[in-house]
This record gives sequence, structure tokens and C-alpha cells, in this order.
Amino acid sequence: MAAAEAIRGADDGAEIVVVSADPHGYYSRPGLAYYLTREIPEDRLFPFTPDDVRRLDLAWVTESAMAIDPAGHRVTLESGRQLVYDRLLLATGSQAIGARVPGAELDGVVKLDGMDDARDIIRRSARAKAAVVVGGGITALEIVEGLRARGLHVHYFMRKDRYWSNVLSESESRIVERELRREGVEMHTFTDLAAIRGRGGRVTAVETGDGAVIPCDLVAVAVGVRPRIELAQSAGLPCARGVLVDEYLRAGDPDIYAAGDIAETVDAHTGHRTLEVLWNPALLKGRVAGLNMAAEPVHVYEQDASINVTRLAGLHTTIIGTVGSGTDADLEGLSRGDSQMWSELSDETTVEAQRGDAHVRLALGEHTIAGAVVIGDQTLSYPLQELIDARVRATNVVATPEAPLVELINGLWTDWKAGRAQVCRA
Ligand SMILES: Cc1cc2nc3c(=O)[nH]c(=O)nc-3n(C[C@H](O)[C@H](O)[C@H](O)COP(=O)(O)OP(=O)(O)OC[C@H]3O[C@@H](n4cnc5c(N)ncnc54)[C@H](O)[C@@H]3O)c2cc1C
Repeated sequence: MAAAEAIRGADDGAEIVVVSADPHGYYSRPGLAYYLTREIPEDRLFPFTPDDVRRLDLAWVTESAMAIDPAGHRVTLESGRQLVYDRLLLATGSQAIGARVPGAELDGVVKLDGMDDARDIIRRSARAKAAVVVGGGITALEIVEGLRARGLHVHYFMRKDRYWSNVLSESESRIVERELRREGVEMHTFTDLAAIRGRGGRVTAVETGDGAVIPCDLVAVAVGVRPRIELAQSAGLPCARGVLVDEYLRAGDPDIYAAGDIAETVDAHTGHRTLEVLWNPALLKGRVAGLNMAAEPVHVYEQDASINVTRLAGLHTTIIGTVGSGTDADLEGLSRGDSQMWSELSDETTVEAQRGDAHVRLALGEHTIAGAVVIGDQTLSYPLQELIDARVRATNVVATPEAPLVELINGLWTDWKAGRAQVCRA
């Protein structure tokens, strides 16, 4: 939709056709978490009114695209109908990776990819009493909290000793875990899902790796997502984990672009290829691709430090830039609301401070702040986002890590706003 808006803004007369397999159209996927907890009603998930959509003057086709013929400039739909294009955008998003254990096919095993899944969880939780949630990252906690808000007893399984270990520090994991316990979630560390048991095709319990049996009616799996690249792959477009795009978001063909979760972009600072499963970068990529599709490919996608403003166990949390490293045993690759950039820290220098309700951590590069995590009071989030994006020289933070962190950040930000701070180019 961001691409469609950009195209319409640049060209009144363009014919725009949106092909989407999702019968619910365009809605906020991050908002599904708040829908599960009953904080927002379903109708608030739709960013566009029907009038907004009409103004874009689109043809909307609710169907799956099955094949692309780049040479013939054609897309074949599930019904067999073919569409001819001048320019094509692929924005097929990502899908949840399922559990690979016996019983994974039982009725009562759920995931959270889209509206139908959210409705399914809501419908099932009206009857269910106990649930097991398996996985890491943001989605697992969103499901945990949604189920708690709907009165279920929730068991949360973690394979190792702590939550989201490749992005959060140990103290941040503990803050989140403490809140989860306070909310009544039963935490199981060093616990693996070995099998799901059922009767009459329905979930009745799970079996853990060390042989314990936990009765439950629902099992939610959030072990990561995989970009849906099959269409691009079968059309012969260059793919790795995502669809490989250039700086204009072209996918190896002058008339085919990719955006959103599937686009594996090049980071201008590091030269690394990056995948992100984030809403705002998806919109930005859509906009850049749309502008390039409408005219000549002159608009470059510039990747800022990945940022997510989210909630973990009810705590407002902002994650910016590179903050962690390694892999999380609870995730296969990325989860929703996650960026590969976050866990690329090679230098382990971090400074952490707790003041009142705010927990702040900085990951320090050689001369700049490489990343930050802010939990609780969010006053410092915006200054940090600006300092990190602008690559402001932060040697005073590096040199005196024991000095009060909050004052250092505020001082640096004031200098930056007043034009007194230096910027470090890559
Ligand atoms: C539960 C949840 C929580 C999230 N939380 C956050 C968060 O806190 N912060 C954040 O930044 N991001 C979050 N995200 C991620 C964010 O929503 C995505 O990064 C973003 O939606 C990606 O946009 P996209 O256009 O690439 O794909 P999507 O929004 O997934 O849209 C892809 C669309 O393509 C359709 N499609 C796929 N294949 C085909 C085909 N062959 N034919 C036709 N249609 C097809 C799909 O049905 C889908 O409608 C969350 C996502 C979910 C699901």
C-alpha cells in the first residue's frame, strides 16, 4: 500500500493492481498484539478508510499469485487468470515457521501471522484453560500476554536460561521475566518442546524434552519467521534468505522490485546484507520502490539504524541499532518485529544504567553509539535514535562509562541539536 500511494502520488494515470491472498486487505500486523489483549478493537487495525482506498484508485484482486514470467511480464493467479505488468513489486511478507515435533498438526496448535490467526486464537481462548507458548522474540510474548489477558493459564517455554538472549542483556531479560512472573505466567527455563499430545485430533498436553507432561488445550508456536520468497525463486530472481535487491530495490530484473520483509537490502554503512521484519522499514521500502516504479529508478533506499518501539511484558521498550550478538536458541532466524542488524555486535562494550523506571543500555562502537535499548520510561529513546542515526561522535560516553549515563546522553544530544557535535562518517 505504501508503494501504491507513492505511485499514485507520482502518476495520476497509472493503472495499479494489488494482488493479495489475505481477504482482510490492509491492516496493522503489529496492532494484532493489542487486539489479542483487548486493548484495541478490530476496526482500529485498519490504517485506511474505504475513502482513502477509493482515492488511490486501485484494482484489488483477492487471490494468490502463483507464478511470474519476467520475460513475458506476466503474473499467473491461482484462478489461472494472467495479469500483464510494466513494473512488478513483490511484497509477500514472511510466514511463521511451524513446530517440528510429533503432534504439530493437531487442532489447537496456533501461530500469529495475520488477522485469521488472531481471530482463531481469540475464538479458541474462549474455551481453553491452559496454554503453552514456545519461542522467542516479540511475537512469543505478544501471544503470552494476549492469552493471559483472556484468562488462560500460560506456560512459557525457553530452551536456555533467559529471554531473547541475542538482543537483550542479561539484566534486560531478567526485567522482562520478572514482569511475566508478576503477570502470572509460569516460566519454564531449559525446557524444550518434545511432542504435542492429543485425543480425537485435539491438543491435550505437551511433552517436554526431559519427559514432563503438561496438560493444555492450546500450543502457540513463535520460533521465527521465513520470508516468502518462493515466487521470486521460481521466477529465477536472485535470492538468499530474502530476495536480493539493489539500492533501488530492484530484484535482479529492471522491471521487478521487492520490498518489505522479503527484501534483503545492502546496508550502506557496513556493506552487509540485512533482513528486517519491521513495519516502518517495510513502509519505507514500499515507498522507495513505488517512486522508482512510477518513473526512473533514481530513489535509493537508505537504511537507518533499525528501530522498534514495542512492549515486552507490558514494558515500553525501544531497540535501536546494533545491540546484541549471537543466536537465540528459542528462535530459528528472525522473529516478527526483529532486525538482523540488532544482533551484529562484534565489540561487547556496553554501558547500562537504571534510573527510576528507566533502564538504558548503550552498545558502544569505536567512536559512536552503535545501538541502544531503553526499557520503561522512554524519555531518552528519541535523543538516542537521533544520535545513532546521525552517527554522532560519542567519545565522551566511550571514555567515561562510569559517569552518569542519562546526563551524558542528554549533554550529547543538546550539543548535537546546537550544532556542536561531530558526525563520524562510515
Ligand atoms: C503479530 C505480529 C506482530 C508484529 N510486531 C511488530 C512490531 O512490534 N514492530 C514492527 O516493526 N513490526 C512488527 N511486525 C512485522 C510487520 O508487521 C511486518 O514487518 C510488515 O507487515 C511487513 O510488511 P510486508 O508488506 O513485507 O508483508 P505483510 O504485511 O506480511 O504482507 C504480505 C502480504 O502478501 C500476501 N501474500 C503473500 N504471498 C502472496 C501470494 N503469492 N499471492 C498473493 N498475496 C500474497 C500475504 O497474504 C500478506 O497479506 C509484526 C508482525 C506480526 C504478524
